[in-house]
Amino acid sequence: MQIDGTTHEFIKQNITTIIRGKKAYDKVKCRLCGLEGIRYGLSNIVDVKYDKKCPKKASKKVQVISKYVCLNFGFEFGKTYERCECPDEYKDKHKDAIWAYSEERKEPVRLLAGEFNLIND
Ligand SMILES: [Zn+2]
Repeated sequence: MQIDGTTHEFIKQNITTIIRGKKAYDKVKCRLCGLEGIRYGLSNIVDVKYDKKCPKKASKKVQVISKYVCLNFGFEFGKTYERCECPDEYKDKHKDAIWAYSEERKEPVRLLAGEFNLIND
């Protein structure tokens, strides 16, 4: 199926465009959830096996469920917070991580697996 204007953030996987006969295409992959597809030519249309909203893009909020994180960064256990952008200095390593802003520390905090639930609204 073909999708356009999607919530996924597709990134080209091959270095140079693949050409088969008269068709030119790129293999693409969502940097957030890993959904793979094929993009033909210069179009924005991506051919994928299935479509669903990008599960990571869809969630703008996180529920903090780690007592350690709450104690150290001033979050309230079980409370829901807005996700925030990865700070520039960590973008090379932790761009895809889940970040929430700590009011107490006045800085974004990277949450690890098991420390949060993604909340879809
Ligand atoms: Zn995605």
